[in-house]
Amino acid sequence: NVAKQKKDAIQFHDKSMTEKAMLRRQMVLELRKAIADSQLTVVYQPKYDLHSLAVSGIEVLVRWKHATKGFISPDVFIPLAEDHGLTSAISKLVVAKAAEELGQAGILGQPLQHVSLNVSAAEFNNADEMTALTNFIHQHQQLSPFIRIEITETATLTDMRKSMEIIANLQASGITFSIDDFGTGYTSLAMLKDLTVDEIKIDRSFVAELEHDARSRTIINAIIAMAKSFDIHVVAEGVETANQLNILQQLGCHQAQGYYLGRPMPISELVEHIAQDKRAAD
Ligand code: C2E
Ligand code: MG
Ligand code: MG
Ligand code: MG
Repeated sequence: NVAKQKKDAIQFHDKSMTEKAMLRRQMVLELRKAIADSQLTVVYQPKYDLHSLAVSGIEVLVRWKHATKGFISPDVFIPLAEDHGLTSAISKLVVAKAAEELGQAGILGQPLQHVSLNVSAAEFNNADEMTALTNFIHQHQQLSPFIRIEITETATLTDMRKSMEIIANLQASGITFSIDDFGTGYTSLAMLKDLTVDEIKIDRSFVAELEHDARSRTIINAIIAMAKSFDIHVVAEGVETANQLNILQQLGCHQAQGYYLGRPMPISELVEHIAQDKRAAD
């Protein structure tokens, strides 16, 4: 009968929900342990200057090497960390690791003018956590002058006035500020009116369509023109082909990142990558 079928369906649904919740809880426990045991590592993706075609910055990306599941993507565990108040612990780990590795490698300042860190929405919208992070960054004096913080466009939307204040505080302390995945929200342009950002990163969905879609090209062209008139630095993300790179150069984009130029890599490879770059230029 229909009633029984419905009841069974609900019970089945409940069971799978409980299972999901249990898996999630298990993962949170493991994440806490991974943070405590410093099982999180970082990789670096080069950012190329499109004028000199040399590495001029990097983005630091967190990685979780799980004992049995292999590498777990930050797209999976950052949302979990946000729900359980673990983002500020992760940020500190990332800053400490980057400071240690980059300091030792001796590539800060020359050629790396910027070291970009991703900060999640939950952390950005918590004034105390942002103050703590700013202080923590400044405890690493070799690294701090180069730090640039990336926030996704949607993270700044919850409270524009508060966002303006947080960004102003960061900038007053010498940390520059970037809007990640730019163009994916519905308020991209209005945002630039109110927020004094140093950089925007054009979302890779636009870059992916660049070659075949004239409208995407027009949008990128407009974003670049507007950003330039506000004195904002423009980075294109997700560059995967030589052709995309050429078009972005022609459009006057400042910097680019993507698999075509360099994948996220551990510090040893980054050092080698930069050395190769230099040999190619000489
Ligand atoms: P994001 O900041 O927009 O970073 C770009 C993502 O695109 C990275 O994925 C990068 O590996 C990938 N990517 C780079 N070039 C290409 C390309 O040419 N093609 C394609 N298809 N992908 C490319 P990843 O490392 O998995 O990070 C995903 C997201 O997780 C990041 O997006 C960022 O929002 C977040 N994230 C990464 N590290 C951290 C961190 O330390 N803290 C926080 N809060 N979030 C982080
Ligand atoms: Mg980013
Ligand atoms: Mg991005
Ligand atoms: Mg992203």
